[in-house]
Amino acid sequence: MAEFRNTVQMQKVLDYMNSVKSHPNAETIYGQVKTEVPSITRATVYRNLNKLVEQNQISRLEINGEFRFDADCGLHEHCVCKNCGSIIEYVNNNFPKNLLKKFNSDKFDADSVNVIFYGLCNNCKTTFLGKRLNKKGMLKSSKNKGR
Ligand SMILES: [Zn+2]
Ligand SMILES: [Zn+2]
Repeated sequence: MAEFRNTVQMQKVLDYMNSVKSHPNAETIYGQVKTEVPSITRATVYRNLNKLVEQNQISRLEINGEFRFDADCGLHEHCVCKNCGSIIEYVNNNFPKNLLKKFNSDKFDADSVNVIFYGLCNNCKTTFLGKRLNKKGMLKSSKNKGR
Protein backbone atom coordinates (compact mmCIF):
# COMPACT_ATOMS: atom_id res chain seq x y z
CA MET A 1 0.00 0.00 0.00
CA ALA A 2 2.91 2.33 0.69
CA GLU A 3 3.90 2.06 -2.95
CA PHE A 4 0.39 3.00 -4.02
CA ARG A 5 0.28 5.99 -1.68
CA ASN A 6 3.61 7.22 -3.05
CA THR A 7 2.32 7.06 -6.59
CA VAL A 8 -0.82 8.99 -5.68
CA GLN A 9 1.19 11.68 -3.91
CA MET A 10 3.57 12.05 -6.82
CA GLN A 11 0.60 12.31 -9.16
CA LYS A 12 -0.86 15.10 -7.00
CA VAL A 13 2.40 17.02 -7.23
CA LEU A 14 2.45 16.53 -10.99
CA ASP A 15 -1.22 17.53 -11.30
CA TYR A 16 -0.52 20.75 -9.45
CA MET A 17 2.49 21.49 -11.64
CA ASN A 18 0.43 20.91 -14.78
CA SER A 19 -2.25 23.27 -13.48
CA VAL A 20 0.02 26.30 -13.13
CA LYS A 21 1.88 28.35 -15.67
CA SER A 22 4.03 30.00 -13.07
CA HIS A 23 7.35 28.59 -11.97
CA PRO A 24 6.74 27.90 -8.28
CA ASN A 25 9.41 27.02 -5.77
CA ALA A 26 9.20 23.84 -3.71
CA GLU A 27 7.70 25.62 -0.71
CA THR A 28 4.81 27.01 -2.77
CA ILE A 29 4.19 23.61 -4.32
CA TYR A 30 4.18 22.01 -0.88
CA GLY A 31 1.68 24.58 0.41
CA GLN A 32 -0.66 24.05 -2.54
CA VAL A 33 -0.52 20.26 -2.63
CA LYS A 34 -1.06 20.16 1.12
CA THR A 35 -4.48 21.81 0.72
CA GLU A 36 -5.51 18.75 -1.31
CA VAL A 37 -3.52 16.10 0.51
CA PRO A 38 -3.31 17.33 4.12
CA SER A 39 -1.22 14.33 5.21
CA ILE A 40 1.58 14.99 2.75
CA THR A 41 4.88 16.03 4.29
CA ARG A 42 7.34 18.62 3.05
CA ALA A 43 9.98 15.89 2.63
CA THR A 44 7.64 13.86 0.42
CA VAL A 45 6.92 16.83 -1.82
CA TYR A 46 10.63 17.63 -2.16
CA ARG A 47 11.44 13.98 -2.90
CA ASN A 48 8.68 13.74 -5.49
CA LEU A 49 9.83 16.93 -7.18
CA ASN A 50 13.33 15.48 -7.52
CA LYS A 51 11.93 12.23 -8.93
CA LEU A 52 9.79 14.08 -11.45
CA VAL A 53 12.84 16.04 -12.56
CA GLU A 54 14.84 12.79 -12.94
CA GLN A 55 12.01 11.35 -15.03
CA ASN A 56 11.93 14.49 -17.17
CA GLN A 57 8.29 15.13 -16.35
CA ILE A 58 9.12 18.58 -15.02
CA SER A 59 12.23 20.68 -15.20
CA ARG A 60 14.12 22.58 -12.55
CA LEU A 61 15.74 25.92 -13.01
CA GLU A 62 17.79 28.01 -10.67
CA ILE A 63 16.83 31.65 -10.54
CA ASN A 64 18.33 34.10 -8.08
CA GLY A 65 19.83 31.21 -6.14
CA GLU A 66 16.51 29.43 -5.72
CA PHE A 67 15.19 26.30 -7.40
CA ARG A 68 12.00 26.84 -9.38
CA PHE A 69 10.00 24.08 -11.03
CA ASP A 70 8.46 24.10 -14.47
CA ALA A 71 5.93 21.62 -15.87
CA ASP A 72 6.85 22.69 -19.37
CA CYS A 73 9.87 20.68 -20.50
CA GLY A 74 9.65 22.06 -24.02
CA LEU A 75 12.29 24.32 -25.44
CA HIS A 76 11.90 27.79 -23.97
CA GLU A 77 13.88 30.48 -22.22
CA HIS A 78 12.97 32.49 -19.15
CA CYS A 79 12.80 36.20 -18.49
CA VAL A 80 13.08 37.28 -14.88
CA CYS A 81 11.80 40.66 -13.73
CA LYS A 82 14.35 42.39 -11.55
CA ASN A 83 11.63 44.35 -9.80
CA CYS A 84 8.88 41.86 -8.92
CA GLY A 85 10.66 38.57 -9.59
CA SER A 86 8.02 37.25 -11.95
CA ILE A 87 9.13 34.73 -14.55
CA ILE A 88 7.95 35.08 -18.11
CA GLU A 89 8.51 32.47 -20.77
CA TYR A 90 10.17 33.28 -24.03
CA VAL A 91 9.42 30.67 -26.66
CA ASN A 92 11.42 30.83 -29.84
CA ASN A 93 12.75 27.48 -30.98
CA ASN A 94 15.34 29.05 -33.23
CA PHE A 95 16.86 31.11 -30.48
CA PRO A 96 18.94 28.38 -28.76
CA LYS A 97 19.85 26.89 -32.15
CA ASN A 98 21.10 30.23 -33.40
CA LEU A 99 23.03 30.84 -30.20
CA LEU A 100 24.69 27.45 -30.51
CA LYS A 101 25.57 28.16 -34.12
CA LYS A 102 27.26 31.38 -33.08
CA PHE A 103 28.99 29.77 -30.15
CA ASN A 104 32.58 29.26 -31.05
CA SER A 105 35.12 27.94 -28.63
CA ASP A 106 38.13 25.71 -28.99
CA LYS A 107 37.83 24.93 -25.30
CA PHE A 108 34.34 23.54 -25.28
CA ASP A 109 31.93 21.63 -27.50
CA ALA A 110 28.43 22.82 -26.57
CA ASP A 111 25.26 20.97 -27.52
CA SER A 112 22.72 22.88 -25.46
CA VAL A 113 22.31 26.31 -23.97
CA ASN A 114 20.07 27.76 -21.30
CA VAL A 115 19.60 31.50 -21.15
CA ILE A 116 17.88 33.64 -18.55
CA PHE A 117 17.02 37.21 -19.50
CA TYR A 118 16.87 39.80 -16.74
CA GLY A 119 14.94 43.01 -17.03
CA LEU A 120 11.52 44.48 -16.31
CA CYS A 121 8.17 42.86 -16.98
CA ASN A 122 5.49 44.94 -18.72
CA ASN A 123 3.62 45.44 -15.46
CA CYS A 124 6.57 46.94 -13.67
CA LYS A 125 7.59 48.92 -16.71
CA THR A 126 4.24 50.64 -17.12
CA THR A 127 2.69 50.89 -13.69
CA PHE A 128 5.56 51.09 -11.25
CA LEU A 129 8.46 52.63 -13.08
CA GLY A 130 6.61 54.04 -16.06
CA LYS A 131 7.24 57.68 -15.37
CA ARG A 132 10.94 57.16 -14.94
CA LEU A 133 11.46 55.23 -18.14
CA ASN A 134 12.30 56.70 -21.48
CA LYS A 135 11.13 55.22 -24.78
CA LYS A 136 13.91 52.67 -24.89
CA GLY A 137 12.74 51.26 -21.57
CA MET A 138 15.86 52.49 -19.83
CA LEU A 139 15.78 54.12 -16.44
CA LYS A 140 16.23 57.84 -16.71
CA SER A 141 18.90 59.38 -14.61
CA SER A 142 17.44 60.48 -11.32
CA LYS A 143 19.57 63.63 -11.38
CA ASN A 144 17.69 66.75 -12.23
CA LYS A 145 19.94 68.17 -14.89
CA GLY A 146 20.59 71.89 -14.80
CA ARG A 147 17.62 72.85 -12.68
ZN1 LIG B 1 9.28 27.78 -18.13
ZN1 LIG C 1 7.85 42.86 -12.76
